[in-house]
Amino acid sequence: MPAEPPADPTKYRRILLKVSGEVLMGEQGYGIDMKTVDTVAAAIKRAVESGVQMCLVIGGGNIFRGLSKAAGDMDRATADHMGMLATVMNALAMQAALEKIGVQTRVQSALTMNAVAEPYIRRRALRHLEKGRVVIFAAGVGAPFFTTDSGAALRAAEMGCDALLKGTSVDGVYTADPKKDASATRYERLTYQDVLAKDLRVMDASAIAMMRDAGIPIVVFSIRGEGSLRRVLNGEGPFTVISGQV
Ligand code: UDP
Repeated sequence: MPAEPPADPTKYRRILLKVSGEVLMGEQGYGIDMKTVDTVAAAIKRAVESGVQMCLVIGGGNIFRGLSKAAGDMDRATADHMGMLATVMNALAMQAALEKIGVQTRVQSALTMNAVAEPYIRRRALRHLEKGRVVIFAAGVGAPFFTTDSGAALRAAEMGCDALLKGTSVDGVYTADPKKDASATRYERLTYQDVLAKDLRVMDASAIAMMRDAGIPIVVFSIRGEGSLRRVLNGEGPFTVISGQV
């Protein structure tokens, strides 16, 4: 598997795009903003039309997070189950937005929910991708005490993706939180080891370690704004690449 993004990034054959729940709530403080979902769906459609096979993982933080205040003194496993169900709702919203504009999709859930989504079956997912369908992986890894970042890393490795693109509301990894510290600067490149040693909190340590072991680069970028996904697929910044070497 490649340890580096392809020299010509337009040659991405298959990617996994992780979209955090926070992005989907748009300007709202909570929930799903369908206008934002439509904008992300339109960007995905353009990527698919350019010939890239797309896997999608959508977070759930816009609806429920296992470690949130709303979880109160609920036991962690129960709260995390609710968080996983939130990712299924987001996956269905994204599926609706994509199908509305003519993009074929399948939702595969790590928690079996036969009336709603296909169960996760690796070989079946690969077949969907080969047919040009977007596969949306819901419910993370299907177990509590994980996040959708780990789900994204696991599926990216299983699907043999060339890169894991993490679409957030910030255009890369910064030395400090750019929303709180005006002097924060963006890293162009980092190694997996840097991220772990500096505790940069881009993704969970387990997700970073999994990508390091699989040799899959992570590209962190802002998915807000027109054309951002297309630019990243063309290798144009701003973004931060996390890989085996700087
Ligand atoms: N979750 C889980 N196992 C998984 C994936 C998700 O328990 O494999 C739960 C966990 O409570 C998490 C929530 O689902 O906080 C929503 O996912 P996440 O926080 O990763 O969403 P994001 O931050 O990307 O919006």
